[in-house]
Amino acid sequence: MSKARIEWQHLEELGVDLHCHSNVSDGVLAPADVVSRAAARGVHTLALTDHDELAGLAAAQSQAESLGLNFIAGVEISVTWAHETIHIVGLQVDPDSPELQAGLAHTRGGRQRRAEEMALDLARVGIDDAYAGALKYVGNPDLISRAHFGRYLVEIGIAESTQAVFERYLTPGKPGYIPHTWASLRDAVQWIQAAGGLAVIAHPARYRLSPTLRWALYEEFKALGGVGLEVVTGSHHPGEYPIYAQHARDFGFFASRGSDFHGPTEGCAEFGSLAAGPAGLTPIWHAFH
Ligand code: AMP
Ligand code: MN
Ligand code: MN
Ligand code: MN
Repeated sequence: MSKARIEWQHLEELGVDLHCHSNVSDGVLAPADVVSRAAARGVHTLALTDHDELAGLAAAQSQAESLGLNFIAGVEISVTWAHETIHIVGLQVDPDSPELQAGLAHTRGGRQRRAEEMALDLARVGIDDAYAGALKYVGNPDLISRAHFGRYLVEIGIAESTQAVFERYLTPGKPGYIPHTWASLRDAVQWIQAAGGLAVIAHPARYRLSPTLRWALYEEFKALGGVGLEVVTGSHHPGEYPIYAQHARDFGFFASRGSDFHGPTEGCAEFGSLAAGPAGLTPIWHAFH
């Protein structure tokens, strides 16, 4: 695949997916299988954006080359801002960037202990051995996530789906939730920029922010060098697309889109299933190099 020959301006929108996960973070499929599935469902331009981890990019890139997909090296960084967890996607990052690698290693660092504390908290409500249970679903020992606990709680019959688990467990105020401080917004944007990438606010509808704080987040993100906002995402209801499209226009952000695919049975959007975005937006791929 020769990057120089890709005309990013002319990509057909429906085949662009700039947010998904492999089992290198909390997705279910191996990186190459993620790419194959995306290709089979009509995706022609794919970013793999594992949480706080770059280890899946080489395998995904090589599978994309053999299938003729445009591959975008990405990452989704966990950030704590105003006591809320915010996810920042980096697109077209250089996986060899020492700054990005060191920043992500630091961000991943607390996950193990957090997971042990989550298991202790679950044991208080009678759910035993959740740490060992979650580990069965972990593809990368550095990246144990609430999603892995969610899968184990489904396995033992606590709820029917991981979404149903998250309504009763693992979220603020519920059993199994352990507050955690992730990277700062400034650091996350800086690491992405140091790696030559574009920083994008992921699934903005998922953050519990007042209108004032939301405005402050956008302003601060922009001042730090952030350039994009996800508008069409599997993490939003289609009814939310126009709201965040307007935010993108108001703040001059490029609009991004992605399924946030985690696995075939994870209840999230499937590859190739996202609608076109609202009119009057500038797609983030117009900023690709
Ligand atoms: P962590 O990074 O360990 O805090 O885990 C966050 C991950 O848990 C997200 O990236 C999702 O994959 C998953 N998750 C969070 N909230 C929900 C939810 N309401 N339903 C399903 N999965 C969720
Ligand atoms: Mn996830
Ligand atoms: Mn996310
Ligand atoms: Mn994601």
